[in-house]
Amino acid sequence: MYLKSLTLKGFKSFASSTTMQLEPGITCIVGPNGSGKSNVVDALAWVMGEQGAKSLRGGKMEDVIFAGTSGRPPLGRAEVQLTIDNSDGALPIDYAEVTISRTMFRNGGSEYAINSQGCRLLDVQELLSDSGIGREMHVIVGQGQLDSILHATPEDRRGFIEEAAGVLKHRKRKEKALRK
Ligand code: ATP
Ligand code: MG
Repeated sequence: MYLKSLTLKGFKSFASSTTMQLEPGITCIVGPNGSGKSNVVDALAWVMGEQGAKSLRGGKMEDVIFAGTSGRPPLGRAEVQLTIDNSDGALPIDYAEVTISRTMFRNGGSEYAINSQGCRLLDVQELLSDSGIGREMHVIVGQGQLDSILHATPEDRRGFIEEAAGVLKHRKRKEKALRK
């Protein structure tokens, strides 16, 4: 499984539709300060279902919609599409390629789709929950978060790794069972 492409339309500073093709392995995004590198990472978290405005570095959820510049009016909606290569079947869905999309309108509503079929946030979360990406995973390490991870206790650090590897929920389940 790997991320194959990411399209942003009206998301934060990406007013025009912008697609990034990704390859297996490491992708680096370089650019001057304020050019939108972190916005790309925010788009990844957002399309996977992120619900916290603060995690998206905004004050309210609508802040992800292009707010306009001196030469360009604000937009009424933000849309992000993430295509994941699933030829190894890591995601529990019978498609070799999976496209998750999320659209948000200024009036607040969000719409989700998996392979162009409208779905609920829960469906997106469930699709991703065993893949090591997605909700509450420490797979996305934000600017400044690195320090807190470096200064964490060994137990906390182990927790981050276990969560990213998808074993934390099994350990929690085991602890719960042993308590009974
Ligand atoms: P740095 O190297 O400093 O970390 P960066 O490349 O990560 O910079 P970002 O934080 O991704 O930069 O982008 C910040 C820019 O995005 C700012 O110029 C900000 O005005 C713009 N921006 C954020 N939200 C919106 C929005 N809703 N509409 C328009 N522009 C936005
Ligand atoms: Mg940044």
